[in-house]
Amino acid sequence: MRRKLAAGNWKMNGLAADLSEIEALAAAHPAPRSEVLVCPPATLIAQMAWKARGSAVMVGGQDCHARPSGAHTGDIAAAMLKDAGASHVILGHSERRADHGETDALVRAKAGAADAAGLVAVICVGETEAERDAGETLGVIGAQLRGSVPDGATAASTVIAYEPVWAIGTGRTPTPAQIAEVHDFLRAELGARFADAEDFRLLYGGSVKPSNAAEIFATSNVDGALVGGASLKAADFGAIIAALDAA
Ligand code: PEP
Repeated sequence: MRRKLAAGNWKMNGLAADLSEIEALAAAHPAPRSEVLVCPPATLIAQMAWKARGSAVMVGGQDCHARPSGAHTGDIAAAMLKDAGASHVILGHSERRADHGETDALVRAKAGAADAAGLVAVICVGETEAERDAGETLGVIGAQLRGSVPDGATAASTVIAYEPVWAIGTGRTPTPAQIAEVHDFLRAELGARFADAEDFRLLYGGSVKPSNAAEIFATSNVDGALVGGASLKAADFGAIIAALDAA
């Protein structure tokens, strides 16, 4: 039985004053059936982990470097995230692939570094609108999955997030049938490589909000969500957690 996961990605949003949202979230959901994860900017990880101590809310990073330490100004090693209180790290988000030219090989190396530091990697894959229009969705996602997920990955070390680029921050979402097609494909692709493929959590991400969460969570092979904008406010993210708990 896969435990569901509601993961929030604050992206480059949030100051210390916004940590009140985490206190509100933790108070409103003291014992959720689902796992709950919030990934703030790196500057807030330690403070958020402190605010969330003893609660069901786990804290994660949004990226890490592939190397364990060294001369990499401005970067953060996986062990540093862990040291600050993180349990997870998002890797290969489409914004990092686009803004920083991250390749599948780099994401794979980062996932190895995350595993070595004891962090669960939330590895993102997803097609652009042009790729979907060209009928390349499954080909693109299959290549990203093969390239980005290390051979040593397990369901305990790795979560996969399907995030169509055209659905992120746009208010547009794929139909349940389109989500199911990709998630069923991801499950089958994992099955070709990993003995515990059935245990990997597969998250959907892209404009998830309280009003569409229940329909998305009823979709085949959807084990939770990676949520951007709607994770910033405890009321919205809490409603998504409640929908996931009820699914
Ligand atoms: C994301 O940042 O991973 C995301 C899915 O964003 P949003 O929910 O805002 O579309």
